[in-house]
Amino acid sequence: MHIIARCPRCGYRWWLDATGADRRMRCRKCWRLLRVPDLTEVPKAAEVISQAQSELYVDDSGRTYG
Ligand SMILES: [Zn+2]
Repeated sequence: MHIIARCPRCGYRWWLDATGADRRMRCRKCWRLLRVPDLTEVPKAAEVISQAQSELYVDDSGRTYG
């Protein structure tokens, strides 16, 4: 499974590794501050992860897109 962060401003996407969760980071393109949620503490996200077959998107409010 891959986790992909998606910037809500410019839509730029980039890969995250497991250590990318639960910390703030900046979009690599437009430098908007993006909060990457700790997925283990977001039940809905965890559910999506369990169903995701290959890719998972997260945004700065903790919503996920499988
Ligand atoms: Zn951006």
